[in-house]
Amino acid sequence: MSAVVVIGGGIAGYCAALGARREGADVTVLARAPGATALYGGSMEVVEDLDAVLMSEPHHPFTRLRLDSVRLATELDAAIPALLLALNKDGLKVEGSWKSRGLYADLHGLARPANLVPATVAAGELKGLVGRRVAVVGVREVGDYDAESVAQALKELHNVDASAEEVSIAELPVGAALTDLYGRRAPAVTKSRAALVAYPPGFSHLPDGGFELLATPPSPHGWRLQQAIGLGTVRAAVDGLQVEGGRVVAVRAGDKTYRADAFVLATGHYIGGGLRKDRGSTTTEPLAGLGVFHDGKPASEVGARLARIDYLGPAEEFRTGLATDERLRPLDESGQAPYENLFAAGAVLGGYDYAGACGFGVPILTGWLAGRFAARTER
Ligand SMILES: Cc1cc2nc3c(=O)[nH]c(=O)nc-3n(C[C@H](O)[C@H](O)[C@H](O)COP(=O)(O)OP(=O)(O)OC[C@H]3O[C@@H](n4cnc5c(N)ncnc54)[C@H](O)[C@@H]3O)c2cc1C
Repeated sequence: MSAVVVIGGGIAGYCAALGARREGADVTVLARAPGATALYGGSMEVVEDLDAVLMSEPHHPFTRLRLDSVRLATELDAAIPALLLALNKDGLKVEGSWKSRGLYADLHGLARPANLVPATVAAGELKGLVGRRVAVVGVREVGDYDAESVAQALKELHNVDASAEEVSIAELPVGAALTDLYGRRAPAVTKSRAALVAYPPGFSHLPDGGFELLATPPSPHGWRLQQAIGLGTVRAAVDGLQVEGGRVVAVRAGDKTYRADAFVLATGHYIGGGLRKDRGSTTTEPLAGLGVFHDGKPASEVGARLARIDYLGPAEEFRTGLATDERLRPLDESGQAPYENLFAAGAVLGGYDYAGACGFGVPILTGWLAGRFAARTER
């Protein structure tokens, strides 16, 4: 049995562990803290149009795998059900498919697309709400959420027959925050005869016909996901690699050393800590000194231009990150993979908008594949 160490406790690290275990490896996941995964709002985007990505995005992590759309589809067909099954076992039911996308309302009544959503959100798919009466629950004591304006947005923007219904939770102080609802039993809605009830996110034990709206950070959906995927992780901040002859043989975390046959770097973007940018400097990868790329070029070469592009549209920098070969081994600045048994996955990769249409798709698929490649690495 091969031993694999995964660095990173977000969705990419979780999927890497699943992939490596599927190949029979003994897996250890090391994580310093929650990353971007814990901030997601409840709508997981996997991919919008796989063929379009392969045709028009040459640096996208999917394109870099050098697989055609049929093979990629086959891998997604394996990875997504494996993820949903594992999350279910770890206490979080998530529904959906990478092949179809729905629209779900957030806390402002605005629609956001998703391929996968928690089961507690699924009944709120906007097309399914049309023609049904929906009560939007407001909590009198909560000051940072307005059920009336959500109901109005549902009506005006999405043609849903929605109205607000206020409840009171006596033990909450006036001016309480949405976060104070987290984990409380959902209050019953008694006055209206609505078929469905939209709750602000965070309540537990929703009644039949109840669903949660999507969140903004801090997000109960993100926190629940992080709790589920964090069950099997070891709390450790990796601070260095031990390398022998082109192979990583161990990683160090404080005074501890973790040896393995292969390693997966799933350390996230800036929020996770997988990439670092100090004021005025270019972006670096702090653990292994790997190459960081933007639009296929080393970020150090495009630094000044990138700073100007950033000023015009900050999302552009979301595309900065590691580049990999077709087996997900990260490259150095010269375009070579310096370590034969180091693989990379998730938001640490560049070439795509990590807050966009593949926000979860890249971590899920590259995580799953990196774990499988790592487990199959020759010792
Ligand atoms: C605010 C926000 C909202 C988002 N909302 C959505 C959304 O609604 N839908 C969507 O599809 N996508 C969304 N995204 C994108 C999506 O959440 C991320 O792309 C995805 O969660 C990244 O997962 P990851 O596992 O690659 O990284 P992360 O979740 O960031 O995980 C990185 C992990 O690596 C660990 N780590 C880093 N360095 C070390 C080290 N040296 N030692 C040990 N551990 C280390 C971190 O502690 C962390 O556990 C959002 C992103 C952000 C920032």
